[in-house]
Amino acid sequence: LQDLGRRLTAAISSVSGHSALDEQASLALDAVLKSVSAALLESDVNVALVKRTRDRVKKQVLPQLEELQAKSTSANQDHDPLAGNKAKQLIHKAMQPVKGKSQVIMMVGLQGAGKTTTCTKLATHYQRRGLKVALVCADTFRAGAFDQLKQNATRAKVPFFGSYTETDPVSISLQGVQKFRAERFDVIIVDTSGRHRQETELFHEMEQIQDAVEPDMTVLVLDGAIGQAAEAQSRAFKEASNFGAIIVTKLDGHAKGGGAISAVAATSTPIIFLGVGEHLHDLEKFSPRPFVSKLLG
Ligand code: GDP
Repeated sequence: LQDLGRRLTAAISSVSGHSALDEQASLALDAVLKSVSAALLESDVNVALVKRTRDRVKKQVLPQLEELQAKSTSANQDHDPLAGNKAKQLIHKAMQPVKGKSQVIMMVGLQGAGKTTTCTKLATHYQRRGLKVALVCADTFRAGAFDQLKQNATRAKVPFFGSYTETDPVSISLQGVQKFRAERFDVIIVDTSGRHRQETELFHEMEQIQDAVEPDMTVLVLDGAIGQAAEAQSRAFKEASNFGAIIVTKLDGHAKGGGAISAVAATSTPIIFLGVGEHLHDLEKFSPRPFVSKLLG
């Protein structure tokens, strides 16, 4: 128990010293908390101690995440002139698109992160709130990307634009955005291509699309299972695309998404939604409390 006590103290102080709880720290903590629980139960020691310890750890971690989220949301806040004092309440731009403004949301991320799936989930989310939403497929890199978006969009009854013959993603995204702007859509979501890793070519393409369609918001889609790689990946994408929000996917599986907190800290950008499955409605609004609870058990 003495050894466990030492490890626990070390783990807690390492968390206190972190600006954010990263994947490694959360895994270490998880392991320590589990072994402490087991040891206490075996020795018939009171289980309340475990609960107190967990509560203490959560109490330290949660405010850090809430503070990070709040700070980074304020940088991407939407100012509603009609909201009066309520404007003080922080509302992320991407959480409340306005009717009649043709807001363009561009999605970026590595191949396989879940961009195409998330585009349709997001479209469905806005559609259910009464907004007129359309999807543009600017992924000309991955074979079958347009077919996938087309299938998803059709299932979700969301109008879409793409091409089997045009190979220039900048041209396609511009055509799509112009078409849906002219048709007065409220939200136009542009799905861009990814690569297996961060590449200059991908970042160059992203910048060109951004220059062409001038998105109101760029969203990074991050695979929840990538662990510590989240920090470097989000930093690189931030530099190239200056995204204003993060969506973490695949949190229905084994991944607890601790790495995503490092991404928030590294880029000062908030998480807005979580992907929790492969289906249309598997999108949850991000909230620090349940996220941290899941992370630390
Ligand atoms: P893209 O290359 O970034 O566009 O990624 P896709 O949208 O094609 O997604 C890659 C794979 O991840 C697909 O098989 C999706 O069904 C799956 N996927 C995406 N989001 C989630 C999620 O939140 N949970 C689970 N379990 N699978 C997901």
